[in-house]
Amino acid sequence: MSMKKTIEKAEEYLLHTYNRYGIVFDHGDGVRLYDADGKEYLDFCSGIAVFALGYGNKRYEKALTDQIGKITHISNYYYSEPLAEAAEGLVKASGMDKVFFTNSGAEAVEGAIKAARKYAFNKDGKCDHEIIAMEHSFHGRTFGALSVTGNEHYREAFRPMIGNVSFAKFNDYESVEALVSDRTCAIIMETVQGEGGIYPADKEFLQKIRKLCDEKDILLILDEIQCGMGRCGSMYAYMQYGVKPDILTTAKAVGCGVPVGAFLMNEKVAANSLVAGDHGTTYGGNPLACAAVAEVLRIFEDDKIIDNVNKIAPYLQKKLQEIVDEYDFLLAERGLGLMRGIVFDTAKKKPGDVAAAALSNGLVLITAGTDVIRFLPPLTITEADVDEMADKLRRALSE
Ligand SMILES: *Cc1c(COP(=O)(O)O)cnc(C)c1O
Repeated sequence: MSMKKTIEKAEEYLLHTYNRYGIVFDHGDGVRLYDADGKEYLDFCSGIAVFALGYGNKRYEKALTDQIGKITHISNYYYSEPLAEAAEGLVKASGMDKVFFTNSGAEAVEGAIKAARKYAFNKDGKCDHEIIAMEHSFHGRTFGALSVTGNEHYREAFRPMIGNVSFAKFNDYESVEALVSDRTCAIIMETVQGEGGIYPADKEFLQKIRKLCDEKDILLILDEIQCGMGRCGSMYAYMQYGVKPDILTTAKAVGCGVPVGAFLMNEKVAANSLVAGDHGTTYGGNPLACAAVAEVLRIFEDDKIIDNVNKIAPYLQKKLQEIVDEYDFLLAERGLGLMRGIVFDTAKKKPGDVAAAALSNGLVLITAGTDVIRFLPPLTITEADVDEMADKLRRALSE
């Protein structure tokens, strides 16, 4: 089918909730994508931080096809070996104690919120607990996740949200402290805000929040759905902050293309929150998804993926800073590891226009917030890939 025909068919039948670019992607290889006409694109989006290993990793593909040959689904009333393997792997990699597998990031956030509310309910038997979330945060599109998402644009038409959520200013400790009451059960935030515009948490901010949570027995929920799984230079970004969350959410790169997420918790929360019957999912943790998770984690270790992140990230940062210095409509570069953004003076140039121009030049990029283009390449990129990206980006910026 021609690209035009595919697009026409898709638009005829799909509910229009995305303004898609007019490209039909057909296959991938390493850090490159190919459209249905065979045109090559360098991918600095990786399906929004999903394809951490790049496309066509042979070990990953073999693990999946082997599992497809055996069984792809059993109900959660039974055990499977991939489930046990993935659970051990993810608990060890995340530094947490127990895991619940979901099908997506939003569902991981739902589970995290339920665990926090149950923990508080178990303490005082009350149903009036509050959650503090952050402005400009993003946690997903389902009602619980949307209720802690600090972006009015996503929420307005869908009110009422779940109640008792208030929003503090990210990286402003006093604004968090001001919202705390004796009914606060959890503080939720991304360790590095993604959709909101690539804002890493300040170390001091996160450490003070941790201390506050300890003092008041408030649960700290860190959403690392985008910034986790090695992207920021450690298996989870929190590991660079000298703090540990009580509940951690993960998804996106954890299955590298198979839809899967998880929420994890420490022993304290595990022992005092969700019990049999409290939470469930039909697909969550099925053998196909778990075969992917278990193999992804093994490949991360064997191929020293995080070492590559730490090798390439400073180079990417340097190249982006050079570009920022060259264009008067670029204001700054920021990020952590291979999760980076450049900030636009939107009165002079729109990031969306540059992302579209980049695509025509064979470079896949996406925006974040209102004034940022973000860079989320596969974690396997090389310096040569960064150089190629910089050339293509310059061309797009100069258009
Ligand atoms: C993408 C994302 C989500 C939502 O994940 P889905 O799989 O799209 O439901 C939640 N939190 C963060 C930080 C994300 O980046």
